[in-house]
Amino acid sequence: MSISKGHFITFEGIDGCGKSTQVKMLVEAMNRIEKKTILVREPGGTTISEEIREILLHRHQSNISDRTEALLMTGSRAQLTYEVIMPNLINGRNVVADRFYDSTLAYQGGGRKLDLDWLIKLNYFATYELEPDVTFFVDILPEEASKRKNKEEDRIEGAGIEFQTLVRNTYLELSIRFKERFIVINGHDTIENIHKSILAELRRRQIL
Ligand code: ADP
Repeated sequence: MSISKGHFITFEGIDGCGKSTQVKMLVEAMNRIEKKTILVREPGGTTISEEIREILLHRHQSNISDRTEALLMTGSRAQLTYEVIMPNLINGRNVVADRFYDSTLAYQGGGRKLDLDWLIKLNYFATYELEPDVTFFVDILPEEASKRKNKEEDRIEGAGIEFQTLVRNTYLELSIRFKERFIVINGHDTIENIHKSILAELRRRQIL
């Protein structure tokens, strides 16, 4: 569905791939050239979504079932979409998201092995059928991502190389299935080169 005047750009990848670094650089670059742009982070970004984030990542360590996890993630996303993303897009602001619904497909679909087509439908319901204009998948080997991590891991990040490999492989599948909007970025490149190639792709799509 396209209801918007602003552009909706999402970033995806396994934990530690460098997404947050690139999201911040992109939002700053866009605002410098007066493309009014806001940053949102999943799961979180509204009062309700932050509370759900707390349940998902820090509390109830091992009690959450895979389906509960998928529903809480998409519940958090529904609130963020309704309260923040859609109103900003309608008002002509661009929105850059550090994770959006492909994360559910990669983590709960690939990682936890829930049915992908079912999750795609659940996502459409949660997001009022809003789709990103472009999705940057920052691709990195799980071994490299784990070397980069310097903070205490949350529940999902702590799930190990094998899990991250399943997640990465699902992202690679999604990049073929949704090839119109998916751009695969080599996350092993330098921070500055990655930033430049993201800007180049957005110019090519006449978003910048
Ligand atoms: P994510 O948001 O995907 O978990 P971050 O952006 O937080 O990843 O990056 C994880 C760590 O890796 C940070 O310490 C960051 O400075 C570093 N990093 C990010 N991008 C690169 C890169 N291209 N090369 C080397 N290190 C990077």
